Amino acid sequence: MEEGWRALDIANPTDEHSMLREMVRSFVSDEVEPQALEFNRDEKFNVELFRSLGESGLLGISVPAEFGGGGMDATAVAIINEELSYSDPAFCLAYLAHDQLMVNNLAQNGNADQKSRILPKVCSGEWIGCMAMSEPDHGTDVLGMETSAVQRDDGNWVINGRKMWITNGSVNDEGGTADIVWLYARTGTDEKGRAEITTFLVEKGTDGFSVGQKIFDKLGMRASNTAELVFEDCVVPPENVVGSPGESMVHMMRNLELERLGLAAMALGISRRCLSVMNSYAS
Ligand SMILES: Cc1cc2nc3c(=O)[nH]c(=O)nc-3n(C[C@H](O)[C@H](O)[C@H](O)COP(=O)(O)OP(=O)(O)OC[C@H]3O[C@@H](n4cnc5c(N)ncnc54)[C@H](O)[C@@H]3O)c2cc1C
Repeated sequence: MEEGWRALDIANPTDEHSMLREMVRSFVSDEVEPQALEFNRDEKFNVELFRSLGESGLLGISVPAEFGGGGMDATAVAIINEELSYSDPAFCLAYLAHDQLMVNNLAQNGNADQKSRILPKVCSGEWIGCMAMSEPDHGTDVLGMETSAVQRDDGNWVINGRKMWITNGSVNDEGGTADIVWLYARTGTDEKGRAEITTFLVEKGTDGFSVGQKIFDKLGMRASNTAELVFEDCVVPPENVVGSPGESMVHMMRNLELERLGLAAMALGISRRCLSVMNSYAS
């Protein structure tokens, strides 16, 4: 066999991917696996372990290095999600909500000021982010969303509405919100009667932004927090609007490419663990 040959395959197409998988696998076995049962049984989100993903360089893996990210590709995202989900799919869901639903979205669609202001914080783990799209009466039917934003004469936007089932929306049992929310809200209706959706970056501590309730007793994904978020006359400055008002269907669609791949990789990790448990039992 040739000198330097490594087992590169479709799951690890480059040396860098192989090394990433080895690193994540060892992090999972040392840090994630030992806490998984307890945190899932008790429905607790392991915030400290989550923040340590930033030190390991895993938060913002698809974000360019100049903003503090890993500068890697969609295959890297799939590798991390598969390896985390082999041990703790709920912890991985929290990772996906932050890394793929919020951080990658900002890296793809944010402007220069938003990226340089926010990406270093979410890539280091200083800030925990989430994406709020679903509502109590609108899940699959995204365009039916009722949360609305109206721009005032002074340029600020006023948001009213409720979002439901938001992963990382709350980070603890004391009502602590995410540090930053990628929020979709209705800002108008086009000539065909379809909703025009706009993205807002809502920061923790903004007046009118709070956790409505933390969802308890989930059947699965118990170690990731799921919450209802409430926006009551929540005032967001124009610099926290992503792109032009009304163009956020493009953001959703651009980001869904990575979200769906990330979710599929989670299913792969869960399946690999099931197979391993079944094999051990059978033998
Ligand atoms: C653990 C967890 C975490 C979540 N995290 C987030 C998050 O971070 N951010 C966020 O925004 N949302 C989040 N969600 C919400 C999730 O995106 C929604 O649950 C999902 O969009 C489905 O919406 P729904 O639950 O209202 O189901 P529904 O929309 O009521 O759908 C129920 C069923 O009906 C089917 N259906 C719906 N409409 C049609 C139709 N027109 N034709 C045929 N079939 C149809 C659907 O395929 C589905 O099988 C989370 C949900 C869970 C359970």
